[in-house]
Amino acid sequence: MSTTIERISAIDGNALAVRIDELARLSDDPACLTRLTLSPSHKKAASLVVEWMQEAGMQVRLDAAGNVIGRYEAQKPGAAKVIIASHIDTVRNAGRFDGNLGVITGIAVVDELNQQGKRLPFAIEVIAFSDEEGVRFASTLSGSRAIAGVFEASCLDDTDADGVSRRQALRDFGADPSKIEDAACNLVNTLAYLEVHIEQGPMLEARNLPLGIVTAINGATRGEVVVKGEAGHSGTLPMSMRRDAMTAAAEMILAIEARARRDADVVATVGRVEIPNGAVNIVPGLVKFSLDVRSSSDVARNRAVTDIEADLAKIAMARRVSAQFTASYDMPATICDAAIVGAMSRAFAQNGREPFMLGSGAGHDGMSFRGRIPVGMIFVRCRGGVSHNPAEYASPADMGAAARVLFDLLLDSGAFA
Ligand SMILES: [Zn+2]
Repeated sequence: MSTTIERISAIDGNALAVRIDELARLSDDPACLTRLTLSPSHKKAASLVVEWMQEAGMQVRLDAAGNVIGRYEAQKPGAAKVIIASHIDTVRNAGRFDGNLGVITGIAVVDELNQQGKRLPFAIEVIAFSDEEGVRFASTLSGSRAIAGVFEASCLDDTDADGVSRRQALRDFGADPSKIEDAACNLVNTLAYLEVHIEQGPMLEARNLPLGIVTAINGATRGEVVVKGEAGHSGTLPMSMRRDAMTAAAEMILAIEARARRDADVVATVGRVEIPNGAVNIVPGLVKFSLDVRSSSDVARNRAVTDIEADLAKIAMARRVSAQFTASYDMPATICDAAIVGAMSRAFAQNGREPFMLGSGAGHDGMSFRGRIPVGMIFVRCRGGVSHNPAEYASPADMGAAARVLFDLLLDSGAFA
């Protein structure tokens, strides 16, 4: 009597879900998932990822920025590589899929290649980035920036809430911050950057689709608007004589909303308003509010910012106040590579899936590689569009579908030519 034992595929959605749960148990807070960069639980998660990568047939190393890198060699050793990556740090009270899914999926596709005894014309490097969320230290994307060769040395002096520097945290983690420049990888020899990530938004669910192809990671302009009028006594100053900075700001905020609504590709948000020295019996003389404008098109974003500045000036003039917008952050959009988007569409079609395209409203590690190597991302539907929240959820079926598409994409010989 002979029996055949069916091998469970490494890219099976249930296998991915088991690993998501295993990683989620590694937390600095026993009550919820909190795995800030370079923390003790991050170190444990990195060790687990090292183990999984080795089991999948990869050569593994930890770099000076705390990234875990596993290499699955090409048919010809030393050939060019494709990077598949995401991050294993989390926000406080996080969901278990954000970042972790991309790392687990990368390991799974290599595992599957290895079990099938397949080597590709290019090597695959799966990377678990150390610091995407930017929660512990002020700077963000430091793991992927180190690999892209754009790490700013001043970030080593950033300190956390307990006064621990990034430099010290890296040492405690087992990385050598003095060698951080060596973490930069040879991008000339890198064919593509690929990432699977949960959508963190409602678009895929609304369309009843498990997966989407990302066309761009939106650019953002952020800064502060300062409105200056004149403070006065709320009881004695007639309405007609007021130069109220707050009512002017209110009109400006509505104008910002109206401008963003006129353009389907732009979102604009005022998330913080402050009346310094405000009181119930004072007509506000000074208001400061934040402005965040995002778009997948730099042209559309810049046009929106210009229009908003013109609106602010007009409203300020009519209300006899002044308004000044100062940008503190300006990040262009990362446009996903057209050839990779095309190859992803083929892999989607091959699996009977609609190649639905969408932009990413949230930032991702791929931004570190903007303009350097071709970037491609696949989004996975998440329930209710909820993320950065313990309720974050992607189904095993959807995760398995993403791994399958990624696997087929790698086998498409024309994808990274
Ligand atoms: Zn993420």
